[in-house]
Amino acid sequence: MNKVVIIGTGPAGLTAAIYLARANMNPLVIEGQQPGGQLTLTTEVENFPGFPEGIMGPELMDNMRKQAERFGAEFKTGWVKQVDFSKQPFKLTVEGMGEIESQSLIISTGASAKLLNIPREKENMGRGVSTCATCDGFFFRNKKIIVVGGGDSAMEEANFLTKFASEVRVVHRREELRASKIMQDRARSNPKVSWSLNCTPLEVVAGDSGLAGLKVKNNETGKEEMIETNGVFVAIGHSPNTGFLQGALKVDELGYIEVKPGTTETNIPGVFACGDVQDHKYRQAITAAGSGCMAALECERYLDGNAVHDWSQSL
Ligand code: NAP
Repeated sequence: MNKVVIIGTGPAGLTAAIYLARANMNPLVIEGQQPGGQLTLTTEVENFPGFPEGIMGPELMDNMRKQAERFGAEFKTGWVKQVDFSKQPFKLTVEGMGEIESQSLIISTGASAKLLNIPREKENMGRGVSTCATCDGFFFRNKKIIVVGGGDSAMEEANFLTKFASEVRVVHRREELRASKIMQDRARSNPKVSWSLNCTPLEVVAGDSGLAGLKVKNNETGKEEMIETNGVFVAIGHSPNTGFLQGALKVDELGYIEVKPGTTETNIPGVFACGDVQDHKYRQAITAAGSGCMAALECERYLDGNAVHDWSQSL
């Protein structure tokens, strides 16, 4: 039986793996369909401390994995289909591995940015198409940018991107924005933000170097047009990767795992959650890594026999 299984290999899971491996807890790490997580979808990472020249996202994740392996973390590829947290040991049914038992568990399965699923969106990810303004905005100095979406994230990203871009155009599929009034007002009063409302994105159009534009359909007139742009930021929300839990843990109304504030403890003692799967506020590699460290320390304490506060009643 395993002492601890870590599900997910983004910065949170790999940091937890490094700490637990160094503590001789022999963590088993299950890598899913996107080993390394969201950072493997981006190019240069310039805001992860310790890399003054920046580092490529995939390289950063590869380094973290090697660091965990160096201390004895074991990696296996699999897809968790089902969990049973009703009694100890916890049970996982993993496609590609069968049934696994563990005394404790760290869930770091992250969140996935929703995509438009339009032609040439995926192949231009990291080459003009992005789902993270904080990560990639810097590369669009004095360039034209489109932000797709009408929620708070889109407003926030549009405002943030005006720090770099010459013009930010919000493309939203309806006339009304979903965003809160204060976020809308902020974007509407920003002179660098312009609007294409009631427009549905149809296709990303690539140019000779970088993007040429975004083809959209005006829903009122039915007319199609191409909006010229250097970058398309898709800000239509994230989905936490918690489907496999099927009600086994408490999640909030958006599906993110609930943790006791200031900790990584879930409502089941011995099950910890870290990274974006429990955080829709910060969503940064460094905050994910920090919470991975917290999860490892809390898990170690749990395995050493120190009771974890059962806070499930207080939710
Ligand atoms: P959201 O509120 O779900 O908004 C998503 C937006 O994307 C909506 O306008 C939606 O259009 C649009 N959209 C969804 N799927 C689309 C598709 N396939 N094609 C085109 N457009 C599509 O998501 P969010 O903005 O990420 O916010 C998530 C939560 O975090 C919210 O509770 C929000 O308040 C919160 N948040 C808060 C802050 C803040 O306060 N600083 C910042 C960011 C996020 P429709 O409107 O037509 O459905």
